Amino acid sequence: MRVAIAGAGLFGRLIGWRLAERGADVTLWEQSPRNAPTSAAHAAAAMLAPASEAPDADAAIFHMGKRSLALWPPMLDALGVPYGMDGSVLVAHGQDAPLLDKFLRSLGPRRAEEARPLDAHGIAALEPALAGRFERGLHLPNEGWLDNRALLSALASRCGEIRYGMPVTPANLHANLVIDCRGASAGLPGLRGVRGEVIRLAAPEVQLSRPVRLMHPRYQLYVAPRPGRHYVVGATQIESDATGAVTVRSALELLSAAFALHPGFAEAEVLELSAGLRAAYPDNLPRVEWRDGALCVNGLYRHGFLVAPAVLAEALTAIDGREQDARPLPRTASKPAPRGAAARAEA
Ligand SMILES: Cc1cc2nc3c(=O)[nH]c(=O)nc-3n(C[C@H](O)[C@H](O)[C@H](O)COP(=O)(O)OP(=O)(O)OC[C@H]3O[C@@H](n4cnc5c(N)ncnc54)[C@H](O)[C@@H]3O)c2cc1C
Repeated sequence: MRVAIAGAGLFGRLIGWRLAERGADVTLWEQSPRNAPTSAAHAAAAMLAPASEAPDADAAIFHMGKRSLALWPPMLDALGVPYGMDGSVLVAHGQDAPLLDKFLRSLGPRRAEEARPLDAHGIAALEPALAGRFERGLHLPNEGWLDNRALLSALASRCGEIRYGMPVTPANLHANLVIDCRGASAGLPGLRGVRGEVIRLAAPEVQLSRPVRLMHPRYQLYVAPRPGRHYVVGATQIESDATGAVTVRSALELLSAAFALHPGFAEAEVLELSAGLRAAYPDNLPRVEWRDGALCVNGLYRHGFLVAPAVLAEALTAIDGREQDARPLPRTASKPAPRGAAARAEA
């Protein structure tokens, strides 16, 4: 089977990998040049955070995220991608501590399983670098992170041939199966871009092993670890599809949050400031749907990494279903449909 995929971001590569494993001849068309990626996947912090996201997300995201957390480790092990599944930590400075209670309340009945209160000792035990800095926090044990760029590069050599610098529309793709994974620039009805900005730091003086989120009344910023004491500090969330560079305001917010979390970030090197567009439908839920003969997978919004394995399973089921539908019909199917007693007899 020849498969053409529009967009070599997170989902295009993932589904290309799975279909190439099944023996398909996969080509991915990617509008960005190889050395100047613009996907949301390249910018992302790639936290796998169903509980942290729960207060602002549909319950479906929580459930897809939980399913995906179990599916990720074998995939990441097979690809040799660094990841962590030791949970995440939420902290708040004294005056903002009520935000932790509000967060706990928003978890409702999931609270006992998804969040454990921490005092200063508990915080220090989990993340010694934060010792003495916060009186209260939460441990969300069922969360994780993965190294998004290691994932994208591991998939690049396994997902088929990526043709970089080649913008396409589904109309000019010729294959047995066309999959549209163009993210925020797909131009599908109802789809919008939500801008996010992150800063990547090298901070040899800070050792955090889990994502840490700083609760704040105006913004919730987080620091996600990467190997070698590198960190992704993110992320802004702006209802705009502007694709320009990171603004001074956003950079100040992100860097202030990192510094408020740990003063060792003051000596960190700024490796990169990057911005990306998250693609979202009005309900902020992902969609896997056939449109004009192409399978469109889009709307992964701020949860693409969190829910990718569950969405992948759904997309593969849709493809398998279509393959069955597309089988040539037996000749007898073209005879006039039987009526009345004949129909009942045939049934
Ligand atoms: C700052 C930021 C932080 C994030 N943090 C997290 C997080 O912590 N956890 C999480 O789960 N998710 C996070 N996300 C969301 C996640 O990155 C996205 O949900 C995910 O990348 C969506 O995958 P995708 O393949 O649909 O789109 P993308 O990854 O955006 O890929 C789409 C690709 O299609 C290409 N393309 C577009 N149009 C064309 C065309 N006409 N022809 C050819 N190619 C085309 C684009 O260049 C791009 O490479 C974050 C996103 C951002 C921006």
